[in-house]
Amino acid sequence: MRTLVTGGAGFLGSHLCDSLIAKGHEVICLDNFFTGHKSNIEHLVSNPNFEMMRWDVIDPFKVEVDQIYNLACPASPVHYQHNPIKTIKTSVIGAINVLGLAKRTGARIFQASTSEVYGDPTEGNHPQVESYWGNVNPIGIRSCYDEGKRCAETLFFDYHRSNNVDIRVIRIFNTYGPRMCPGDGRVVSNFICQALRGEPITIFGGGTQTRSFCYVSDLISGFELLMDKEGITGPVNVGNPNEITMLELAENVLAITGSKSEIVHKPLPEDDPQQRRPDITVARRELCWEPNVALKEGLEKTIQYFESII
Ligand code: NAD
Ligand code: UDP
Repeated sequence: MRTLVTGGAGFLGSHLCDSLIAKGHEVICLDNFFTGHKSNIEHLVSNPNFEMMRWDVIDPFKVEVDQIYNLACPASPVHYQHNPIKTIKTSVIGAINVLGLAKRTGARIFQASTSEVYGDPTEGNHPQVESYWGNVNPIGIRSCYDEGKRCAETLFFDYHRSNNVDIRVIRIFNTYGPRMCPGDGRVVSNFICQALRGEPITIFGGGTQTRSFCYVSDLISGFELLMDKEGITGPVNVGNPNEITMLELAENVLAITGSKSEIVHKPLPEDDPQQRRPDITVARRELCWEPNVALKEGLEKTIQYFESII
């Protein structure tokens, strides 16, 4: 099985490459290193089944593959807002390029979509089910990411309907673990780095907004179960339904690290969703998937990782 992973040098992509290599795939990792790092994949470079391709997914390319995982896209608000036009091009033109490749080669193709397609869910739509169409601001500062990912989903389903392309679409909820980028502004990496450095823990807004955090190994097993399942297109929510407030997350990080950092409040970013939790009924039923790693255990492993790099 020869498998292309776009965005393979990033946080999730590098864990996926590890898992595919361990299962005997030949892996082509395509990445432009915008947010990915060579250090995430350097242990794979000498493996004869692993090939690194420095390339931008918005530029056309040709490879011969059996499977495609499309992960290329900056994922944290700080990074995707850095150059919003590039972000939307990456999602949309990138999707057209990988879908064209899937059409030509007959490869099965997987799209890393996101819970952000649900935006800031309206009342009655919590937790989020796959049939919810979302509440997304089309012209706000998060739109380059949210609408780009929504358009990519549209393209996936149109290529499926029009050209019979064999698609798998997953909607990923907040995921954390080793190889998160310390400077990408995501809440788990921010809180851990701040706690370890003895700096103030920055809570945006009152801290009552919620997220549901999934440990990376759980997520990757969900990826592979969906990719390998016959007769399914998705979209399928994959995430941990254990919902907590940002204040509770900060308290957890402080307790595990033993840090004396104080908690400070900063303004809530524009369009920041108030609550987010996946309904994983479909993943449980169709993939027999559910997360196994509890928040405390996952945070301990992630903290160990950050201790080793900062
Ligand atoms: P990441 O930023 O660590 O990884 C993204 C990778 O894509 C990086 O290696 C980056 O260099 C690469 N990339 C970006 N633009 C590119 C381009 N134009 N051409 C080629 N490569 C490009 O982020 P991540 O957390 O690993 O996210 C991976 C995917 O999963 C993304 O598509 C993201 O939207 C999705 N996702 C992640 C989460 C999460 O919680 N981590 C949640 C929802 C969805
Ligand atoms: N957040 C925070 N402090 C930080 C970084 C983020 O309170 O230092 C909040 C942010 O406002 C949001 C939540 O944590 O409500 C999750 O933010 P993140 O960027 O990790 O993910 P997303 O908003 O994309 O789910």
